[in-house]
Amino acid sequence: MTVQTPIYMDHHATTPVHPQVLDAMLPYLKDDFGNAASRSHAFGWKAEAAVEHAREKVAALIGADPREILFTSGATESDNLAVKGAARYRKEAGTHLVVSAIEHKAVLDSAHALEAEGFEVTFLPVTQEGLVEVDAVRDALRPTTTLVSVMLANNEVGTVQPVAEIGALCRDRGVLFHTDAVQGLGRVPFDVATAHADLVSLSAHKMYGPKGIGALYVRRGRPRVRLEPLIHGGGHERGMRSGTLPVHQIVGFGAAAALAFEDLESGVEIARVRALRDRLWHGLSTRLTEVRLNGSRAHRLPNNLNVSFAFVEGEALMMAARDVAVSSGSACTSASLEPSYVLRAMGVPSEVAHSSIRFGLGRSNTEEEVDHVVDLFVEKVTQLREMSPLYEMARQGIDLGSVQWHA
Ligand SMILES: *Cc1c(COP(=O)(O)O)cnc(C)c1O
Repeated sequence: MTVQTPIYMDHHATTPVHPQVLDAMLPYLKDDFGNAASRSHAFGWKAEAAVEHAREKVAALIGADPREILFTSGATESDNLAVKGAARYRKEAGTHLVVSAIEHKAVLDSAHALEAEGFEVTFLPVTQEGLVEVDAVRDALRPTTTLVSVMLANNEVGTVQPVAEIGALCRDRGVLFHTDAVQGLGRVPFDVATAHADLVSLSAHKMYGPKGIGALYVRRGRPRVRLEPLIHGGGHERGMRSGTLPVHQIVGFGAAAALAFEDLESGVEIARVRALRDRLWHGLSTRLTEVRLNGSRAHRLPNNLNVSFAFVEGEALMMAARDVAVSSGSACTSASLEPSYVLRAMGVPSEVAHSSIRFGLGRSNTEEEVDHVVDLFVEKVTQLREMSPLYEMARQGIDLGSVQWHA
């Protein structure tokens, strides 16, 4: 059986909208186009009912009350609102924050923006396995700490963090706990009570929903979690996020959340993807030498593989294996080809980081595709190594660390 190319294995970047999700959305782009804030007619009522139904589905996915869900334009905005909104609201209580060094840029850059406003931020190192240590969080806390932000699962190396322990520690110390749960939703069990989370960022397009819609969970009850809004206006979403609600997007998010909930309940699709991921690793690691898995094997998303192929440039490998959509360990966001800050924070040497490829598996992938990807990568890595003088030297037993390089 031949496989169709290109093959999509970049599900950490985004996922396709599931057909069921699209079907749920379409009526709200056509006949049911009302504004959910229109209180005076049936068009508005219908839109509002659809939004509230979706809010229940999103809340149910993380074990929250629907009143705790605020819709945003995506997790970038949710991360900004959580970090900046909470820190600014609580600045009389303290101006110190703790965030892990491997957070998404939306958290890291929000923290940097706060530094420019006079806040102090501790960027927590991670272990070589890419894990945040609870003791490191404890040691970083100060009397002036108001917020800790540690993600549920990392988008590059797929490591799943001990959020329940970190959340419990924060609750105990009266510090707010924010977790960016985007990559873990529908893939690993998560609920706000177990995580002791006060703020949780969600995004629809990483879980088979549409782009441009996300949510922030804001815990209710005592002590109350208050935020300074980033966007002022008509007072939508309890005054914390103004703007006309994109009803069709929200409906799609709700449908995607229901799907993710079913996946977690049955476990069938998660187990299928995990088996494909393990098949991919088995193929690559048995048929090639000098491949290395980046990030913890045990505490890892079921769909993630981050592999370094020694003596091969990740970018060159991606070009050679263009039929497969993956991403490399070089920050594609900058023209400078800096090695990934996540791999760097894990202490991965820069040449190893440059040779890394992130595979993100998902619903569309099949066993035939995985086998094709293994064949293709084995062939391309072997070819690229044959052209590499470094690989030749290493094979002859020359210690590359001892080589005197000329400028
Ligand atoms: C994709 C992603 C985001 C950003 O979400 P958007 O909805 O695309 O803004 C934030 N955090 C993590 C971990 C992500 O993977």
